[in-house]
Amino acid sequence: MLRYDQLSYWERAQYLSDQTFGIIGAGLVGMSTALSLRERFPTEKIVVLERGYLPTGASTKNAGFACFGSPTELKDDLENMPEARVWETVALRLEGLELLQKRVGAVQMDYKNCGSWDLIGQQEATLEPDFLDYLNGALKQNFGLEQVYSTDHNFQQTFGFQGYKAAYFNAYEGSIDTGKLIQTLYKQCIAADIQFLFATEVKHWVSSAQNVEVHTQHGTLEVQQLFLCTNGFAQASFPNELRPARAQVLLTKPLAHCIKGTFHSDRGYYYFRDIGQRILLGGGRNLDFETETTTTFEQNAHIRAALIAKLTHEILPGQAFEIEQEWSGIMCVGDEKKPIIRSLNKNVHAGVRMGGMGIAIGSAVGDALSKMV
Ligand SMILES: Cc1cc2nc3c(=O)[nH]c(=O)nc-3n(C[C@H](O)[C@H](O)[C@H](O)COP(=O)(O)OP(=O)(O)OC[C@H]3O[C@@H](n4cnc5c(N)ncnc54)[C@H](O)[C@@H]3O)c2cc1C
Repeated sequence: MLRYDQLSYWERAQYLSDQTFGIIGAGLVGMSTALSLRERFPTEKIVVLERGYLPTGASTKNAGFACFGSPTELKDDLENMPEARVWETVALRLEGLELLQKRVGAVQMDYKNCGSWDLIGQQEATLEPDFLDYLNGALKQNFGLEQVYSTDHNFQQTFGFQGYKAAYFNAYEGSIDTGKLIQTLYKQCIAADIQFLFATEVKHWVSSAQNVEVHTQHGTLEVQQLFLCTNGFAQASFPNELRPARAQVLLTKPLAHCIKGTFHSDRGYYYFRDIGQRILLGGGRNLDFETETTTTFEQNAHIRAALIAKLTHEILPGQAFEIEQEWSGIMCVGDEKKPIIRSLNKNVHAGVRMGGMGIAIGSAVGDALSKMV
């Protein structure tokens, strides 16, 4: 691979010189930041630096749930976070989903307003009857959403699941095609004259009063403002505030009978949905937190076995299935369930720690980052 000092005059002028904004990471947050910057600065040069030949984190590997909170997850949050913070986080998710709908459009990301079900296992406690009323009241008062959650008394007959004793329906959640979403954002970036340097890993950067020197494996380029959108790979910059979290997914071959919709269970630690006639099932990180705190893209055999057991006994009981594909991606979590949107100095800014709801908050985080300059 040629080093930057071996490039031609034309190449340097086009790709390296006079860059105003540099963004590290071509995931949902990096591309959203680029597009929001372009809306504010129509003529400045913007370059996205991505170490993979494709985005290589979570944005092209996720399950595609356009979600903002299941009742059991919100209950968990309300028990562990101040109430105002819980609703601030929900507000950011709803704002991000709205921005995503506006920017990308339902058709372009194959958005299906199929609703979601929060499934309660036999050993778990059901929710107090008035808790759904409290959530519905708060969502109406804070965001004008009518009757978000309800108890689905017929879920067992509808879906044929086993091992669940209750289900709560969320009428406002849905599914997207993750690949189409990222490809649409990429096309919008190209149309907005945003440059991409793929296969470019940023090793470190050095800030001065005027600019930031960005050191990559191919050489160094200068930008005036740098945005760190590397989520699960940003631990070196935030050692005490975030950590990587691997998430694993299985996809079945097409099934004779396939349920439709998006489903969560065990406070969001498991999730499944249909893709065509297939089931995508992910999760189980809570079975082995220590091993899953990693940036390595591998499968965990113990978690895989638990996912297979879930498919066999709970999701597809009595139906034969085969696994067509499996993969893992790297998310980012921390003790606080809230993204970090912060300036590290006057010309370096970070939008990281998206948790398990980056689809919902990614656009809002990009928008907030673009307003930091
Ligand atoms: C299996 C799985 C299922 C999920 N399901 C859902 C879901 O259903 N709904 C939902 O809302 N969220 C879900 N998520 C989470 C969601 O995908 C993420 O929160 C979101 O994609 C984060 O986007 P990002 O742009 O911040 O990070 P990423 O997509 O990880 O992008 C960061 C980019 O930075 C690049 N990078 C890192 N370091 C460097 C460097 N030094 N130099 C250059 N480039 C670098 C990486 O290659 C990567 O492309 C899921 C995640 C996984 C893994």
